[in-house]
Amino acid sequence: MSKKLNSFILPDSVTEEMKNKLREGFEKEIELGFSLCLSQNSNVLKVGEQCTGGECSIALPSKCEGNDTYAGAYHTHPHESSRPSSQDIPIIYNRGLACIGGIENDKEEIKCYIRNVPRDIEAPYRFKDKLVFIRDRSERRKEIDKFVKDNFMTIDVI
Ligand SMILES: [Zn+2]
Repeated sequence: MSKKLNSFILPDSVTEEMKNKLREGFEKEIELGFSLCLSQNSNVLKVGEQCTGGECSIALPSKCEGNDTYAGAYHTHPHESSRPSSQDIPIIYNRGLACIGGIENDKEEIKCYIRNVPRDIEAPYRFKDKLVFIRDRSERRKEIDKFVKDNFMTIDVI
């Protein structure tokens, strides 16, 4: 069954590719991912350009083939859950759609985050300024999760 991601459709073939990347990244202990692209006049997401390691965590690729348009990106967390990291926040906020694969309690999970508030270009900066004073790991996690809850709709893919 394909999945609805707000106005987009995530076909099973793309979900399978997400799972493959999650497993491969876990074995190789690196982040892997790819762009999510759309053909013209289509709302069905497809796999675009691939990324490895730092490319995925610092700047997600934003390339799609030919006339395809960029819709968002997927990347994996080989050692962590599918919740966005603090570095992920500005990227996924600005791009609007991001899917993340990770491992939580020994279980594979993939979640997609879709911004459901109008883009405020200052918001990621305010978030960063707030986080800079929080040293405690679990407090930081709470603050990140709160930002996600306030700004995104979260959809469980697996
Ligand atoms: Zn990440």
